[in-house]
Amino acid sequence: MFFVGKKARLQNTHYLHRSQCEILPDIHARITLEATKIEQALVEAQNYFDVVKPCALCILQKQTASPSRKAAL
Ligand SMILES: [Zn+2]
Repeated sequence: MFFVGKKARLQNTHYLHRSQCEILPDIHARITLEATKIEQALVEAQNYFDVVKPCALCILQKQTASPSRKAAL
């Protein structure tokens, strides 16, 4: 299951997350998507927001800690 945050981050970007993400927005601050694949989820999220990027923590799954985490926040 995928979610997109309602609140824009840098450069009006909205982030796409998986349900287990540690920075997943609060239930009131996210939209639950029907898509089951990342590609579909991105397309679906773009129905709501112009700029959508996959979260660096839960989707890009970079193993290194702080820089990508700060970018996702
Ligand atoms: Zn995430």
